[in-house]
Amino acid sequence: MRILIAEDDQVLADGLLRALRGSGYAVDQVATGTEADAAVASHEFDLLILDLGLPKMGGLEVLRRLRARGSALPVLILTAADSVEQRVTGLDVGADDYMAKPFSLQELEARVRALTRRGLGTASSIIRHGPLTFDATGRVAYLDDQMVELSARELSLLEVLLQRAGRLVSKDQLVERLCEWGEEVSTNAIEVYIHRLRKKIERGPVRIATVRGLGYCLEKINS
Ligand code: CA
Repeated sequence: MRILIAEDDQVLADGLLRALRGSGYAVDQVATGTEADAAVASHEFDLLILDLGLPKMGGLEVLRRLRARGSALPVLILTAADSVEQRVTGLDVGADDYMAKPFSLQELEARVRALTRRGLGTASSIIRHGPLTFDATGRVAYLDDQMVELSARELSLLEVLLQRAGRLVSKDQLVERLCEWGEEVSTNAIEVYIHRLRKKIERGPVRIATVRGLGYCLEKINS
């Protein structure tokens, strides 16, 4: 799950970054509307947390442009506490939800979970594939109902593979989905994570197949 935070209040942004990274999301931050606009136009995200009072280009304009391009990216807007008008306009323009400042991080995280689930077109936070179960809310994975000890990275990797179970996921897609800007994670590192993940989950009739030169595919082995 990759989230973009567009917020120019650095103290607030730092709090959000810490909390969401702590919950296992890959999170990037920009501090102007123009950067937000460019980022969502050129990168794949699962959620945009958008402050409406951004310098250079207002949050509403970023949102208008995003929807005008036909993007269905879930958007959570951050508004000033007293601005009912802003909230209404934001929802009219295509925001999925809003939080009025100041807000509790716990509540924000609950809304983030709900929105990222909705983005996947599923009301449930549980993904199942054969003997594998992934609980996106609790960030835990189970193999045959037994919890599997996975690092945050391995969990995110498994999540992406499960969301596309039976389909090819390229290494570049994995890098794009898992890694944050400025962080040097190569496709070689992805191989290492895959290797570790395989050792932990390939005990049952599920395996991560390597499609040479293309990527990976989580598949069930017919017994
Ligand atoms: Ca602001």
